[in-house]
Amino acid sequence: MQIPLKVKGQTVEIVAGIDLGTTNSLCAWVHEGTAQVIADREGRRITPSVVNIDEQHHAVVGDEAQERALVSPEGHLTSIKRFMGRSLEDVYDEAKAAPYTVVAGTRTEQCSIRVYGKEYVPEELSAMILAEVKKRAERAVGGRLRRAVITVPAYFDDSQRQATRNAGRMAGIDVLRIINEPTAAALAYGLNHKKAGTFLVYDLGGGTFDVSVLKLTEGVFKVIATTGNTALGGDDFDRALVELISEGVQVEQKPQYRAALKIAAESAKKALSSQDATRVQMQLGDVVIDQTITRPAYEAAIAPLVHKTLASVEFVLDEAGLDPEDVNDVVCVGGSTRTPLVRQELERFFGKPPHTELNPDEVVALGAAIQASILTGDGTGDTVLLDVTPLSLGIETYGGGCTKLLWRNTPVPVRATEGFTTHVDDQTAVAIHVLQGEREMAADLRSLGRFVLRGIPPMKAGMPRVLVEFFIDADGLLKVTAKEMTSGTEASIDVQPTYGLTDEQVEDMIFESIEHAEEDMIAHIVADLKAEGESVIRYSRKAMAERADLVPPPLRVQIEAAIGGLEAAIASGEKEPIEAAMLVLNESTATVAETLMNEVLSVTVAGRSVGEVIGTEPRTRASDIQLG
Ligand code: AMP
Repeated sequence: MQIPLKVKGQTVEIVAGIDLGTTNSLCAWVHEGTAQVIADREGRRITPSVVNIDEQHHAVVGDEAQERALVSPEGHLTSIKRFMGRSLEDVYDEAKAAPYTVVAGTRTEQCSIRVYGKEYVPEELSAMILAEVKKRAERAVGGRLRRAVITVPAYFDDSQRQATRNAGRMAGIDVLRIINEPTAAALAYGLNHKKAGTFLVYDLGGGTFDVSVLKLTEGVFKVIATTGNTALGGDDFDRALVELISEGVQVEQKPQYRAALKIAAESAKKALSSQDATRVQMQLGDVVIDQTITRPAYEAAIAPLVHKTLASVEFVLDEAGLDPEDVNDVVCVGGSTRTPLVRQELERFFGKPPHTELNPDEVVALGAAIQASILTGDGTGDTVLLDVTPLSLGIETYGGGCTKLLWRNTPVPVRATEGFTTHVDDQTAVAIHVLQGEREMAADLRSLGRFVLRGIPPMKAGMPRVLVEFFIDADGLLKVTAKEMTSGTEASIDVQPTYGLTDEQVEDMIFESIEHAEEDMIAHIVADLKAEGESVIRYSRKAMAERADLVPPPLRVQIEAAIGGLEAAIASGEKEPIEAAMLVLNESTATVAETLMNEVLSVTVAGRSVGEVIGTEPRTRASDIQLG
């Protein structure tokens, strides 16, 4: 039985609303008449607006980029939105304060961000974020996102708006319209259904505050005044709480203590949004902190900050020539508007409660989705016929699991890449086994072909960076390429499209995967764990043999017992015992591993910068490519 790589499939078109934020981005759509944020396959509703680029100029985006903040700090790019469509002159102060290098662009008037000698224009970085948002939404819905409305702050000028539009285009999105964030928020609350009105949108996020006055006449919103503060938000509330938490104790000024205090403060802040008091207990070095913070104490600390925002509200009303009672509705946007004091003060100021019914983090994306569905004249999510992959495609990983690169129902043509590494030292070849189907284990999947990538220079396990790319062209031809990035060695295979499988057969294969989903997932996890366990055992034995000097007899006995325990656990094939035994072995070898690691680092770092060394680290995964 052969399965085609391409079929005509019913695919949902996602007409999206995208909130391209400074810190986070969200994607929403109107589905079956309701505006809703699209959570990705892991249930995540937001994509961090972060790009991380390594020395080989390999970029990762979103959560994965966050994880690489310390691995590739020079290429860790946050708050890119602040530089969109701006010249270096426009953003001189912000450029100086940025944790990366902002330079005058050589390609355009706009500033660029220089990473490892290469210049990136902010809009191409924003395009990477939009592409990630698009990819997540498409995977989650199993559809295609081609058209979207994207939001921008009301104060964005033409060149910033144009840069946002370009970013959308570069990400393969037809930008239906760029709309103002406050307008989107008003749309989310259905304020456009009123014939006319004056609305105030109060947007207090983590680091910024914006307030805008909108006028609605005959169904059209106009921003008539806007102001804000690019350095006022929830972060300041956190700082006020840090003061309260550390009152009366002398905490050493260490970066990790400051970070721990900030985390504790933010979580206390959130608790105080729904509770009258919260207890903070922590230990920083020798200092023990045990403070109960009451809501009144917290509110007294943040009152000056809240009043500062109200001064901006007064200012913007003044600009618009309005009194508070002229405002028909007040809309809350941004996570910090969950703070009860903010809501109370707004109610006191306007004499009516603000709108807080919707999630304040999501209103902008929801409003953008509503605008998108109005523009396309349909709010139900179109179903269109497109060429799609009928089943998922992936490669076999060490231990017999399968890592999927393309999910079923992905419209073609399509390209997908994923990074892998080797499993044992000095491995000079890797076998790539291309698989098709929905199950988790290679043995349950259809084999489409195998090839071997040879000529990898001998390196320690985990050092080579093997980039595997799947490309399906419009004719449904799949080409799989594997390239080792440090040496440039490359190999590939063409998988011919074959036809002949009926819809029922495809359905059966999908059904079978659902039926076996849970057991498959467990089998996959256990296979990965077994592989990891075997490699830990191999390394422990090798270290004991080669560096007996580091392993005194009592420790040797302990390690050998732990190895025995892990071997027995692996033989049992049960997840929890393997995890527990691996922990025991890792703990018993911790001191040896640390000494070896320090030795390796001091050898490797010699003659090269630490950044170089860290930058060459591959995107290691729990599951590695199978041995060649
Ligand atoms: P945004 O930039 O709109 O995502 O807002 C994020 C800010 O909202 C951060 O400072 C968060 O700490 C803050 N935030 C999130 N949840 C709450 C909450 N329950 N109470 C107060 N602040 C919150």
